[in-house]
Amino acid sequence: MKPCWIGFGGNLGDVPAHWQQVLNRLEHDPQFANLRISSLYRSVPMGADAGDAFWNAVAEVESSLAPFDVLRKLQQWEAELGRVRTVRWGPRALDLDLLAYGDQTVNTPELVVPHVGLWYRRFVLDPWVEISPEWKHPAYGLTVRQFQDRLLGPRQLWLRGDWPADWHAQVFRQAGQRFPDLSCDLVEKVEFPATGIVADFVVSDRQDHGTEPTLRFSPDDDLPTVCQHVVDVLTAAYEPPERVPAA
Ligand code: ADP
Ligand code: MG
Repeated sequence: MKPCWIGFGGNLGDVPAHWQQVLNRLEHDPQFANLRISSLYRSVPMGADAGDAFWNAVAEVESSLAPFDVLRKLQQWEAELGRVRTVRWGPRALDLDLLAYGDQTVNTPELVVPHVGLWYRRFVLDPWVEISPEWKHPAYGLTVRQFQDRLLGPRQLWLRGDWPADWHAQVFRQAGQRFPDLSCDLVEKVEFPATGIVADFVVSDRQDHGTEPTLRFSPDDDLPTVCQHVVDVLTAAYEPPERVPAA
């Protein structure tokens, strides 16, 4: 049995009821054991077309399944429990992510573990820190609590690498419109676990997630998409989710 962490989100229909159904399945499926769950949280939606406030939570559970089989099971439950997908990061009844699987790393087109977004998403880190603050990211060497701590200080966006001048000006302008108190800087070096959201501009292989928690952009991206993505990440990082007291 391996410890797994599952991230949950949704903003369509009776979302807490969907979460309860997922928990019932985790409780009763013989391939899972020792379920522990966080509180539920409400968070500001990420993405231009995301809709209403989201519900979020994290569960820890042990599993005898391999990472791909955990993902398949989560996808099956998403489908059964009525997920409606139209837009990327759009409204959805239920989103289940495999956040982590022990200290194992998986890097394939269908499955990336640990989940690529966990380091900047307060709606993942806040619930997660309730149940396993000491889990350590195998590539970045930081714990759940350290990822959360990085985001609790002043809002900072750092661009590193060879950003085209007109691009970084535009990224800073749009990010500053969304967060007027954001400090925006071009940096050469960052010593992690430094605070700040770091966005690299790289020409090399984008499938490699590196050894540092950063966003990575390249000349293949287009500027409006880059700006929207940065704003979405800042929203996830700097709009704190609200814990919903247990009923
Ligand atoms: P997000 O979870 O970032 O909001 P989506 O749910 O839209 O994004 O992404 C779904 C896709 O992500 C699926 O096709 C799945 O194959 C892929 N994926 C890659 N890694 C993971 C992971 N760790 N957990 C869940 N889905 C993953
Ligand atoms: Mg998902």
